[in-house]
Amino acid sequence: MAHQGAGRFAPSPSGQLHIGNLRTAVLAWLFARSTGRDFLVRIEDLDRVRAGAEADQLAELAALGIRSDAPVIRQSEQGHRYAQALDDLLHRGLVYECFCTRRDVAEAASAPHVWPGFYPGTCRHLSETERVLLRVQQRPALRLKSGVESWSVEDLLAGHVSAPVDDFVLRRNDGVIAYNLAVVVDDAAQGIDQVVRGDDLLDSAPRQAYLASLLGLPVPVYAHVPLAVTQEGRRLAKRDGAVTLEDLARLGWAVPAVLDVVLGSLGLPGGSLEAALAVFDPGRMPRDPWVVDPSALFPPPPAPACKPSVPTDKVSS
Ligand code: GLU
Repeated sequence: MAHQGAGRFAPSPSGQLHIGNLRTAVLAWLFARSTGRDFLVRIEDLDRVRAGAEADQLAELAALGIRSDAPVIRQSEQGHRYAQALDDLLHRGLVYECFCTRRDVAEAASAPHVWPGFYPGTCRHLSETERVLLRVQQRPALRLKSGVESWSVEDLLAGHVSAPVDDFVLRRNDGVIAYNLAVVVDDAAQGIDQVVRGDDLLDSAPRQAYLASLLGLPVPVYAHVPLAVTQEGRRLAKRDGAVTLEDLARLGWAVPAVLDVVLGSLGLPGGSLEAALAVFDPGRMPRDPWVVDPSALFPPPPAPACKPSVPTDKVSS
């Protein structure tokens, strides 16, 4: 197959990966490889970081056979790229300062006729005098002056997806670059043209595609895959039982057996990633969330067979 572009898995290093995250990584790898793409891993460490988590996550992926084809990059080291993109937008008059507090934003977004979470542009029309006064009191966030109300993307699984695009944040008021800007800049800089990730991010795709188009960057192919959920329908989390490779190893589950469970949940044969790749067909993968009951999915392995008991009369005292 012709070699082109790259897919990726981009975890936030906030802790160990659980089997839901690992399943998404497996899918990202399968989508990339089955389309002749490279596969890259990027560490999204602008925000939630726990010491040691990056190394844990890379080791967990490697244990499954998932490795990045190029050196792993960290977002914390890409500041120059984000600054350049932000400058470009600034010079085109597409950025404004926002002094709203979290509470202001929540109140504005809960007003009638406003999409839930939609920022209605409160600070867009501040005068220069107002801005000067406000700057003395607090550091502003930077928002995109969006020129559209909504934007659409084509998703390989969800089809045509349209979502509102508000004046979303590009740089937070603590100076940290916002996720939407970082992702768009990094994907383009790394030549990533296929984004496979959990469907909790489906609504972000139109914003990101719109931002990419403003920056003159190519829009990747998207595939938002179903998440792992608990029996109550809540997104799986580490507190939901033995769901990390480390937890499962403690219960006696070796990595290949865990991989088989993950591949089985996708209707794919176990054994190895390569065996699954040979028959992977995105059109046939399950479209519903993966309902995980850890204790049923990973029961304690059978106790080792008992050694023949030694007759007590033969035991010397
Ligand atoms: N870093 C994000 C996460 O761990 C994923 C972002 C993305 O794939 O675009 O949820």
